[in-house]
Amino acid sequence: MKRVAVIGATGSVGSSVLDVCRHHRDRVEVVALAAGENGEKLAALSAEFAASKLCLASREAAATLAGKLPSSAETLFGAQGLKTLAEDPDIDHVVFASSGTSAIEALQAALRAGKEVSLANKESIVVAGAWVMPLVRGRDQLRPLDSEHNAIWQCLQGEGGGNLRKIYLTASGGPFRDWPAEDLKNVTPEMALKHPVWSMGAKITVDSATLMNKGIELIEAAFLFGLEPHQVEALVSPGSFVHGLVEFEDGCVKMLAGEPDMRLPAASCLFWPERLSPSRDFPRPKLSPRDLSFGPADEGRFPALRTAKEALAKGGAYPALLVGADEVAVDRFMKKDIPFTAIPQVVEETMAAYSNAAPRSLGEALEVLEWARKYCASICDGMR
Ligand code: NDP
Ligand code: MG
Repeated sequence: MKRVAVIGATGSVGSSVLDVCRHHRDRVEVVALAAGENGEKLAALSAEFAASKLCLASREAAATLAGKLPSSAETLFGAQGLKTLAEDPDIDHVVFASSGTSAIEALQAALRAGKEVSLANKESIVVAGAWVMPLVRGRDQLRPLDSEHNAIWQCLQGEGGGNLRKIYLTASGGPFRDWPAEDLKNVTPEMALKHPVWSMGAKITVDSATLMNKGIELIEAAFLFGLEPHQVEALVSPGSFVHGLVEFEDGCVKMLAGEPDMRLPAASCLFWPERLSPSRDFPRPKLSPRDLSFGPADEGRFPALRTAKEALAKGGAYPALLVGADEVAVDRFMKKDIPFTAIPQVVEETMAAYSNAAPRSLGEALEVLEWARKYCASICDGMR
């Protein structure tokens, strides 16, 4: 029986993970659950899974939640609460599926405590990869749950270290893949929130429409797999059946395909090296003719990808600047303060304005992140 904690339990990825757990109650015991503010949904999940360790972002939300739970339940709050869950001796496997950067220290704590970790939260690795990756013991302690990285991780199983030449992460291209550049300025939040393939949280759905998500994922991949910027590339594959490809030194290419459903990578992370069906009625892959084509992403129409590649190449403070500025830019786009096409523009401007040194500690990286949020907010204020 694997004892699991799910951080971000009320969100899109968290729901996929819990669906897998729901169908494997003989293998997985959900011991702990964490969310931001949604105490109502967390209380319902806690009752369903008999999870007795809960955490919410604020003290007030946690106090309200505690009133709805049996007295035996333990209710924690904030980043410290997440850290306490992550190093709890009653937990074997911690799933990081929250949005934002509040779980970075909990991620470090889980790795230090020798827990198995499934990681969907890309922000933490992009901002703090330099202070997270050295804590990983062995290839399978940290299991990438982001579907493209999960594909690469699976492709690398059984391969020797020095054989990898390059990896490719696929992108559907988002809802505006074939739109002419001049129409992109008219994209509304409602249009950007309709992803053609994946059903996800709002922030990552907008990031998929600008291709910023793919850019952030290139940085995530460089940290996770210890690769140089020239070894990670994005490919548009409209069929969304192939998720990641690895090119080896001899010219062979391995790729991982499957239905675009987050329950697949979730099951592989929870049960690896076993392969268990994510659910009783999970569809078999359709091996009939389907679009398996690959092409380059258009960085002219989708400059966010180019900006993210620049952040990857520069390293140092730039990945944190990218994450902080993009978080604010997407929020302001959703509030209709700035147009869709301004998202990459304000991120680029924020990066260009930074003149301090690269962070030397996690604390300094978090300061860079905060600086980027504030600087980008001031640019957006000026555009209203
Ligand atoms: P959602 O917005 O759907 O869910 C976010 C989750 O995080 C919710 O459970 C939310 O709780 C919780 N949360 C927010 N703040 C905190 C906090 N301070 N402490 C603890 N929990 C918190 O996002 P997604 O599920 O789409 O994405 C989650 C992460 O996974 C992101 O980093 C995203 O980039 C990544 N990812 C997502 C994929 C997807 O398919 N959706 C695919 C690959 C990666 P509450 O409900 O209370 O707000
Ligand atoms: Mg992804």
